Amino acid sequence: MGKTVADWHARAQAARFDGRSVVDGQRRDGASGETFDKHSPIDGRRLGAVVRGREADVDAAVRSARAAFEDRRWCGLAPAVRKKVLQRFAAKILEAKDELALLETLDMGKPIAHALAVDVPATARTIAWYAEAIDKVYDEIAPTGANALALITREPMGVVGTIVPWNYPMIMAAWKLGPALATGNSVVLKPSEKSPFTALRLAELATEAGLPPGVFNVVPGYGHEAGEALALHMDVDAVGFTGSTRVGRKMLEYAGRSNLKRVFNELGGKSAFVVFPDFENLPRAAETLAGSIFFNQGESCNAPSRVLVHDSIADEFVRLVAAQTPAYQPGDPLDDRTVMGALVDEGQLRTVIGYIEAGSSEGARLVAGGQRARSDTGGFYVQPTVFDGVANDMKIAREEIFGPVVSVIRFKDEAEAVALANQSNYGLQASVWSDNINRAHRVARSLRAGTVHVNQYDEDDITVPFGGYKQSGNGRDKSLHAFDKYTELKTTWLRIEP
Ligand code: NAD
Repeated sequence: MGKTVADWHARAQAARFDGRSVVDGQRRDGASGETFDKHSPIDGRRLGAVVRGREADVDAAVRSARAAFEDRRWCGLAPAVRKKVLQRFAAKILEAKDELALLETLDMGKPIAHALAVDVPATARTIAWYAEAIDKVYDEIAPTGANALALITREPMGVVGTIVPWNYPMIMAAWKLGPALATGNSVVLKPSEKSPFTALRLAELATEAGLPPGVFNVVPGYGHEAGEALALHMDVDAVGFTGSTRVGRKMLEYAGRSNLKRVFNELGGKSAFVVFPDFENLPRAAETLAGSIFFNQGESCNAPSRVLVHDSIADEFVRLVAAQTPAYQPGDPLDDRTVMGALVDEGQLRTVIGYIEAGSSEGARLVAGGQRARSDTGGFYVQPTVFDGVANDMKIAREEIFGPVVSVIRFKDEAEAVALANQSNYGLQASVWSDNINRAHRVARSLRAGTVHVNQYDEDDITVPFGGYKQSGNGRDKSLHAFDKYTELKTTWLRIEP
């Protein structure tokens, strides 16, 4: 039996929010005793106090992680044993499905239906998938001379710092944790100050699953305090960062100023959705577009926010996209029929409304939405919004809005479409819509993006790499390629006496 909206509200009232760090397998108060209050974006309600982690807290967590690595209590276990522990961790995530989904919804505003159907299962599947991979990835022997043997082995980096954003707090954490833990590292995770609660619960569940203390620590706090301390720490070997391009730039600076730790950045996007007139099923393209750009309130790094449409079909396509918007009006995130929830906080609401105003003042034509919604709830909601007549050099076409806003740009021919799509500092994803197989492949090859979709946008799977070209980052999350980020390659030469 599904839960009613009243059931979820009752659970929300009863929910516990523990904002203390998890270090060495234990809940801890911050060294300074300072906390900050976390409120829910769905109605402004105070959820609880969160540790304001600073250098001393990060240092304690890094020491704990280092001790766990040095005494090999995790990386020294047999692969099959590590696999079992991570499988139990994944199972515990699924057992705690309702609790985790509710925390995620209350913390960052997404619909409970999506937290249940997407966030929790994807988090568990990510951990389970990397658990399975542990005893299936073999080292290599190089084909060298007859009297020598060269082994190429992967070794864990040591202590991995991970800093993640608030849009998919659990999934982003799992994309780092899965490969980092599977390859034997110890981890210190700094969740976003806007969504700290599920990461802290994940650390408790990992301990319950048998992950040794110190292997997975979580220190909440602000970016310029806890985040900076972690990225600057001299005893952190690598940082897996997901967040804005602005902060990704800082990650590289911190590494340069400290120990040249490896930095892997998964950053912003302004993904192009390119529709050609030879794609027949325009209603399906419009439905897919709406489902992708309005999903998670538009707070997705890979949201197809720049829509390039051929002149000859643009009027029809804009009409089809605008016709989708009534189905995406924001609703109560605790009602399982709601498909669009609240933006993460008031600052994000102001940012999104600011972009909408900039679009209008730069001459784009607002064809749907554009207003704040549900303000009587005390939460931060905005209508699904569509702009037509956008030029690629307008602010709304250049910058990542991170809200439910579509910008439609018209093009005349294939060459112009490709040029416009690639005229962006970002290169995370793109899609091409065409029934002409040659054109589809030609354009897909020309698009400078880490993932290109052809005639779809919604397929995704843990088996495929995820990451960007250009200022969308370096390195790849997901798939076995993520192992490259959390391992060093070692060559061992052996002489074989003839
Ligand atoms: P953000 O860059 O503001 O913050 C991300 C994390 O970095 C947070 O934990 C924050 O506390 C921390 N941080 C902030 N300033 C810091 C500093 N000076 N030093 C160290 N840490 C600091 O990003 P956000 O607003 O939380 O998330 C949205 C961004 O994340 C968007 O740009 C989005 O595109 C991007 N994102 C990218 C991917 C991807 O895989 N490429 C996935 C999800 C989100």
